Amino acid sequence: MATAKAKKKPAAKKKPTARRLLRSKGSPKPARPAARKVATSKKAAAKKRAPASIPDPKPTPRPTPDMSGRSLLPLNILLIGPPGAGKGTQAEKICGTFNIPHLSTGNLFRAAIAAGTPLGRQVEPLLREGKLVPDAITIPIVDARLEQPDAAKGVLFDGYPRNLAQADALEKTFVRLGRKLNRVILIEVPDSAIVARMSGRRSCPTCNTVYHLVANPPKEMGRCDKDGTELVTRKDDVPETVQGRLNTYADQTAPLIAYYQPKGLLSRVDGKRTPEQVFESIHGELQQR
Ligand code: AMP
Ligand code: ZN
Repeated sequence: MATAKAKKKPAAKKKPTARRLLRSKGSPKPARPAARKVATSKKAAAKKRAPASIPDPKPTPRPTPDMSGRSLLPLNILLIGPPGAGKGTQAEKICGTFNIPHLSTGNLFRAAIAAGTPLGRQVEPLLREGKLVPDAITIPIVDARLEQPDAAKGVLFDGYPRNLAQADALEKTFVRLGRKLNRVILIEVPDSAIVARMSGRRSCPTCNTVYHLVANPPKEMGRCDKDGTELVTRKDDVPETVQGRLNTYADQTAPLIAYYQPKGLLSRVDGKRTPEQVFESIHGELQQR
């Protein structure tokens, strides 16, 4: 082992020292700058030198060798945006690409309601009315999920935190677990577009995949592509509740933008485009984190 390591080290150093070696030997390499000078002198030397002397403040990011982005792990990401911004759709793409678990508090609550658990019975009226579930219930559920082994490689939070108290709690949990938040993606869509979007939204009660009658229809009308379950309109996607959810977002969740921006964690993404275009932007933001 020791010999293998000893052999490897000088080999690894070869690259950075190669240029210096060439330069000190005075053979072909030094000819390069000289050749450039000749080329430069043909044109206006001053003009050429000026742009070259300006340092590039933001070097072009190199593509990661692993295009799936898995080399970025662990990756803890928050997805923020008004209801109907496309968080669920993007969450699915992000989790599939980076192979991290999707932590959607809304999905957890809906599963509890469907299973008829005490938690489900407690939160059902709140979800139906588009009101937030109390922090005392929500925060411990998220903390427990974060401690499961599969969350060690990172988590995509969708719909959490939903207010400043939850954001503070999450920060403390990350400190306690020795993890950090890598990026907060804000998907921006104006309210006027949201109401129109929500009326065409259909969801799979089995796997939570979200479809849209016009923008993202299932292959077979009314059935989930993945499991064939009959699609439903979520109870809180009806127009009367959507306005309430938008108000809750504006009052409770939008302040998270001012919370994360000064920390340098916020990336704004225009959510009015196709799901593929939105994902491309998110992917780019995550590569540059
Ligand atoms: P979502 O699927 O994220 O739109 O959430 C659906 C509903 O679940 C919300 O309207 C709230 O009633 C509840 N909910 C989801 N996430 C949270 C959270 N982090 N805090 C409180 N309530 C939540
Ligand atoms: Zn499904």
